[in-house]
Amino acid sequence: MRRHEEHDTESTLQQFRTDQADAAGRRRPRVLGRMLAVTLLALGSARGDPLGAELGTFPHGDRMVSVFRIDETVSDAPDQDAFAIELAYRLNAFTAREGFEACARICRSNDGARWGATLITIGSHAACPQTRICPSGTVPTDVDIHSHLRVERYRPSALDGIFLVRHYSYRELVHTDPEQFSPGDFRTGPGYMVNRQTLLFQDGESDVRLVWRMGEGATHRP
Ligand SMILES: [Zn+2]
Repeated sequence: MRRHEEHDTESTLQQFRTDQADAAGRRRPRVLGRMLAVTLLALGSARGDPLGAELGTFPHGDRMVSVFRIDETVSDAPDQDAFAIELAYRLNAFTAREGFEACARICRSNDGARWGATLITIGSHAACPQTRICPSGTVPTDVDIHSHLRVERYRPSALDGIFLVRHYSYRELVHTDPEQFSPGDFRTGPGYMVNRQTLLFQDGESDVRLVWRMGEGATHRP
């Protein structure tokens, strides 16, 4: 298993895929929310688990953000969609349990025989970083996958606040549409998104397809 030093994680960070309700003037009232208090304290004390081992930290705005490794998997799935389905169940399980987004870069061995992914989270409702972190023996593709929350409203944490485009006042909630790609998703390149109901893939707003209905059970298991 590959070790990731802080510096390694930082150098592999590309950007955050942020699910901002308020992005780019799109419908939806979103907004109602913010609470000041939740936090980094909570995150810090959770180090180790239940979020997973800390891979490293990196700056975002004026904050340092920790990335946690949830799990790592390598598979001989027959194609990318089949591998994404495997990952979707794992990501969904984490999000159902912890209530945060989780994500992974889809990686592949150079000979094309195996797929790999390192599942990560920052413990946010609103964002998950796009990195090039891969299991040993695999290299990153251009595609990633992330989970959406299982609720349509949440109270933003202080960590969420650094990714949301505006401040939320006390008692306001952020509204989301978990079964749709967010404007932020479309801005950050092709990828899969899993929610309670479905696994979807997008390569731009005009190119969204249903990959799998999550109630149907996995087609391929490692
Ligand atoms: Zn999203």
